[in-house]
Amino acid sequence: MGERERHILGVSGGKDSSALAVFMRDRIPQMEYVFCDTQKELPETYEYLDRLQVFLGKPIVRLNGARGFDHWLEVYGGYLPSSRMRWCTKMLKIKPFEEYVGDEPVLSYIGIRADEDRDGYISSKPNIKPVYPLREAGIREPDVYRILEDAGLGLPKYYAWRTRSGCYFCFFQRKAEWIGLKENHPELFEAAKRYEKTDETTGVRYTWSQAESLVELERPDRIEQIKGRHEKVMETKQKDQKGARLFQILSETLIEDDDTEPCLICNL
Ligand code: SF4
Repeated sequence: MGERERHILGVSGGKDSSALAVFMRDRIPQMEYVFCDTQKELPETYEYLDRLQVFLGKPIVRLNGARGFDHWLEVYGGYLPSSRMRWCTKMLKIKPFEEYVGDEPVLSYIGIRADEDRDGYISSKPNIKPVYPLREAGIREPDVYRILEDAGLGLPKYYAWRTRSGCYFCFFQRKAEWIGLKENHPELFEAAKRYEKTDETTGVRYTWSQAESLVELERPDRIEQIKGRHEKVMETKQKDQKGARLFQILSETLIEDDDTEPCLICNL
């Protein structure tokens, strides 16, 4: 690693990027920590970042101070982002990060673990070079839990009902996680509902969750159905740790149309 390079680590409020920050604290003292704030993160995420910042002993720079999600929603004509039209990641995560980096040579630290088969976000800017210290050190998921535990941070509290960080209304969350949002943050669930709409002219519905509005999802019978299916999947997963294939089949058939593909930038 050259002396002239800047070292930048983007945290998302998720366990892996947080463990990476903990892991790197004493290894690269000049590290710059940044967080691309959509202004729509969960309260648990903001609380966790505050604690992480104390552990790191230096500020986590918050990007997007002036222009959060609502600003870009207006720019995009009120059209909600989706897995096919992911303008939110582009405008709220990639661009602010690249603007912050500028044109100097930078090593960008990415929290991909040794037990993952993906690369995360790789900037197309030639001055940004991705590095993967967790992967290189052979750090796997159980090690991440241990690193966070040893640092006195533990996991962000939202892990009790949600598997990933990101906006409270993220369209990548599972149906069961929407119910988790309703139960844990009813006011945020109501706020997410207010974003959904039907185009009066075309009749096209814009909803967060695929093929179903939040009003439909929160009906008691539907909640019961989603919870039942989710429990079945979880039971199967626990019973049959080795039966990954079976779990995959059940997931595909029982989780229906969930948008489960994670956002590689927001959810590390
Ligand atoms: S967390 Fe989800 S909604 Fe928020 S910026 Fe990322 S992809 Fe978009």
